[in-house]
Amino acid sequence: MAREYKLEDYRNFGIMAHIDAGKTTTTERILYYTGKSHKMGETHDGAATMDWMAQEQERGITITSAATTTFWQGRDGKKRRFNIIDTPGHVDFTIEVERSLRVLDGAVALLDSNAGVEPQTETVWRQAEKYHVPRMIFCNKMDKIGADFYRCLEMIKSRLGAVPLAIQLPIGAENEFKGVIDLIEMKSIVWHDETAGAAYEVGEIPADLQAKAEQYREAMIETAVEMDEGAMERYLEGELPDNDELRSLIRKGTISVKFHPVLCGTAFKNKGVQPLLDAVVDFLPAPNEVPDIKGIDPKTEAETTRKSSDDEPLSMLAFKIMNDPFVGSLTFCRIYSGKVTKGMSLENTVKGKRERIGRMLQMHSNSREDIEEAFAGDIVALAGLKETTTGDTLCDPLKPVILERMEFPEPVIQIAIEPKTKGDQEKMGLALNRLAAEDPSFRVKTDEESGQTIIAGMGELHLDILVDRMRREFKVEANVGAPQVAYRETITRTAEVDYTHKKQTGGTGQFARVKLIFEPNPESEEFVFESKIVGGAVPKEYIPGVQKGIQSVL
Ligand code: GDP
Repeated sequence: MAREYKLEDYRNFGIMAHIDAGKTTTTERILYYTGKSHKMGETHDGAATMDWMAQEQERGITITSAATTTFWQGRDGKKRRFNIIDTPGHVDFTIEVERSLRVLDGAVALLDSNAGVEPQTETVWRQAEKYHVPRMIFCNKMDKIGADFYRCLEMIKSRLGAVPLAIQLPIGAENEFKGVIDLIEMKSIVWHDETAGAAYEVGEIPADLQAKAEQYREAMIETAVEMDEGAMERYLEGELPDNDELRSLIRKGTISVKFHPVLCGTAFKNKGVQPLLDAVVDFLPAPNEVPDIKGIDPKTEAETTRKSSDDEPLSMLAFKIMNDPFVGSLTFCRIYSGKVTKGMSLENTVKGKRERIGRMLQMHSNSREDIEEAFAGDIVALAGLKETTTGDTLCDPLKPVILERMEFPEPVIQIAIEPKTKGDQEKMGLALNRLAAEDPSFRVKTDEESGQTIIAGMGELHLDILVDRMRREFKVEANVGAPQVAYRETITRTAEVDYTHKKQTGGTGQFARVKLIFEPNPESEEFVFESKIVGGAVPKEYIPGVQKGIQSVL
């Protein structure tokens, strides 16, 4: 069987945001609009949105990082396949953001147009920066009091240090927000109806915004032509690129992360979503437009790459394990190269184990589709895997590879936990093991002195949710102790330190996690420090008072 959609018609992307910026609403609207334009096959059992878990709805945060396959017809009438990879917005789950960033090719960063760039916007932005993820920005909540598109543009520059490329301007704001000006087509796009799925009207730019639109268009073109020498020369001679060329220049700049197209709207009032989806097609990369995935040949330990192509040997990365209420344990994998068929035997090169796929599914917004075969660029959910955990590579046993591993930070908070009854004891052990397999930033250990079970994670909320899941999903009631800091101090903010020689840890721009041991009491004075390397090496005594210097580089 051949692939249904060509590789260039795939968009694997995520939506990232500070909590409350409207990620859930926007995702739901996207699924609504894209679902409407594609008649899905038979519906199996229903899961309404990507927020599957009951407690997510209660708490209003997205914890899981699943993927949903949907379809959108671009401006050219051609249908594209979208795999929307869910990224959580809460800072306690930055590890979840990290793993989703690892498998997506592009992202839409959402801003609350009133709040602008918020602390967690900065956090996720920095994480995306690390993986060099091409990003667009959607200034959501343009209907909200205090919404200010132009201030958002300023904040993108000042707070994120990024280059915003406004490709739209808002028409009105707050209660008066009507729609957007498309600066490429130089047309207005206005919604007269605020119900989901409502069509928009394309018309002339309002007279009072004409001069502003021309000014922003000029600036947009000036930035875009820098992406191509020929276009630049012609521009300097007074010749402007036509709209198709302009789009391809913007595409080039976005994919090479030179700048970020900025759009606006209100997901809640259903304004701006369709042009955002068109922009995903126009500007975010297909899987074959991002650098080939790197890996290691486990036999020779030589570095290697895998091209995004069906003709290469199979390689895929497990990025999320979750318990589906209808199917059971599912391993979400991104296929980087080759193809995979149901029933196939795979090599897990990290664990050194063979795995057999029982069922292979593609998750849609309201259905699960059983599939027989999947290809490079696809995201699939596999049932029946026994040994695979997040971050593992699955591949052709004859052509083994270990794909670039994901980095998992050390837990920062720990609590003691004990079952309420004897009967819960065994169940608790099973539950904790299962949760730890799903979530690499969650650890379980036994305190040697007291014999207590200690669980450690990325924050209080993180552990709260795991205890809650234990109760809901595994019916285990437990008493929980007071949270304690797992390390004396954890600095999560990235400091730009110009490191010089001594201990080499990695290349410029990499993040180093350095464990320091202080005198005189090495046991108690240990902490982990994360920093971006701007010079290429880590010094021994870069904090006054550190006498032993760097104990180990993690
Ligand atoms: P998330 O935390 O980023 O997933 O944000 P949600 O989608 O849950 O939205 C947070 C709150 O903002 C909810 O009360 C939404 O109804 C509201 N909201 C989302 N989008 C908009 C919008 O475009 N305009 C306004 N006024 N409110 C919005």
